[in-house]
Amino acid sequence: MSVHIEVLSGLGDKGPAAIVVEAQGKRLLLDAGGALHSNDTITWTNSLAVDAVLISHDHIDHIGGVAELAEDVPLYCTPLVAKALPPNRAWRPLPERGSLEVDGITVTTGQAGHSLGGVWLHLAVEGGVFYSGDACFESRLFPFDTPPPARVALLDASYGSYDQPQAHCVRAISKHLYQPLALPVPETGRALEMSLWLAEEADQHQLTLAIDPLIRHNLAALLALPETLRRPEIDVAIASVLARANDENALLRLISDRNDTPAQWPDHHLLHTGYLTPDRRAQLAAGKISWQRWNVHLRASHLVALAEQLGATQVVPLFTPLCDNELTAWRSLLSDRLCTAQRFPVNSHLATFSV
Ligand SMILES: [Zn+2]
Repeated sequence: MSVHIEVLSGLGDKGPAAIVVEAQGKRLLLDAGGALHSNDTITWTNSLAVDAVLISHDHIDHIGGVAELAEDVPLYCTPLVAKALPPNRAWRPLPERGSLEVDGITVTTGQAGHSLGGVWLHLAVEGGVFYSGDACFESRLFPFDTPPPARVALLDASYGSYDQPQAHCVRAISKHLYQPLALPVPETGRALEMSLWLAEEADQHQLTLAIDPLIRHNLAALLALPETLRRPEIDVAIASVLARANDENALLRLISDRNDTPAQWPDHHLLHTGYLTPDRRAQLAAGKISWQRWNVHLRASHLVALAEQLGATQVVPLFTPLCDNELTAWRSLLSDRLCTAQRFPVNSHLATFSV
């Protein structure tokens, strides 16, 4: 029986994630992303009919659209991700690493290396369909599990053809630490590994540091998971951050991102390390904030390595522009495996499409 993939949202730009896999007469929705910008609305939920929804992780562009879905559609996510669901939304557990049947389809999950409770998803249909959610090979805390083979790979390409190693990013961020600095971060993602690194920098250079209570809470939640869900030999470093008192007048402040603006931080400079909204891009252009990436998505060579490891013949780069230069770059990275169709059959003879 033929299997079709339809990327409802997340193709051709950084945008909400929503992908339908049609197989065995069922329609499974992978992620239910909400708008990345507060004044945007999502349209991909219009007249949507699906049999189940699987959520990869708790970032807004992957889970923020759940409120728009019919409440009786079965929803699967890991227990930590379920904390970000709308109040009283029913859910069924996805394993952090394992398999289950959803509507007769075997779904396998594994650690995606990106966030607390986050997983990738593999569907055992037509040679395998793999969806990375957001994924990274370089996290110091979150492991990345090797997935089973898959003919189709729907991959996190948020960074486009960017390919700088994390060590480069860390060196560049360390150059900012001489000044009073506030770093707004997603509290279930890079916040946790940045807290470990900042604590080490603070100790080494006698700098004062404060870590948001929400970030501490999530670090404790990570430490409470089975140890195979963390990178090895990291527990002592996590415990030492949790034991550390916050300095009330700290020079360095790692904060949960609450849409902070420079006006809210008159005594600190804001350093952003991830996706910038248009408002923040304007602040950056005006010299009011700084930006230096901390890698939490697949960089280009890792994306290609993952596609090869999966044995994929159809690879869709998600959450990234696919216009002229970008498309040329992806063609050279993925050659005839590149697939940029919004809807396509698995194992099609036509592996290459245009947007
Ligand atoms: Zn994410």
